[in-house]
Amino acid sequence: MMRALIIGRFQPFHLGHLKIIEDLAKRHDYIIIGIGSAQESHTVENPFTAGERHLMIANSLESRNINNFYLVPIEDIYRNALWVAHVESIAPPFNVVYSANPLVKRLFMEKGYKVIMPELYRRDIYSGKEIRRRMIYDENWQELVTKEVIKVIDEIDGINRIKEIAKNDEYSTDQPKK
Ligand code: NAP
Repeated sequence: MMRALIIGRFQPFHLGHLKIIEDLAKRHDYIIIGIGSAQESHTVENPFTAGERHLMIANSLESRNINNFYLVPIEDIYRNALWVAHVESIAPPFNVVYSANPLVKRLFMEKGYKVIMPELYRRDIYSGKEIRRRMIYDENWQELVTKEVIKVIDEIDGINRIKEIAKNDEYSTDQPKK
């Protein structure tokens, strides 16, 4: 049984993530999608809760008839050397790890896992940071996510949430846009 693990913060889940996961779902029996920094929410960098991100991902995949996935929230721990054991204690067993994050890659490789860097798709626009910026400045963020993600964000009043949080953060309406 081939199970692949992919971990991301998915703040929010976007079309770049979807493309990679669609591809992995075809090539493995199951994909385990770890929702990283699960304890974080209500900040500009991490506006959405683990449960909200779960809905965004599950609804997007199910509506594309992708059902061979498990979603696992993974909280951060402040001990990198123990993090892989922490992930192993929460997730179903996996044979291979996909990650674009050099720290994640290093930590899993040191524990003997095969780690593959996925090819990132249209990184210039399919980026969580760019989507969050567009949300704050009333630009077109919708074109970068699925319609299921738009629906979840509408349902939780996500745009007002991130705009209000941004008033206390590095973002301010006085600042230039980028
Ligand atoms: P991240 O910091 O969310 O992402 C790193 C970069 O890679 C981001 O620019 C991200 O873009 C991009 N990326 C990741 N997956 C992508 C994909 N499928 N398609 C396109 N771009 C992608 O880190 P991460 O690698 O996604 O997630 C790692 C998680 O593990 C984090 O939550 C981190 O806190 C956690 N972690 C914890 C520990 C510990 O607790 N000690 C140690 C290591 C890692 P987007 O923003 O567009 O996704």
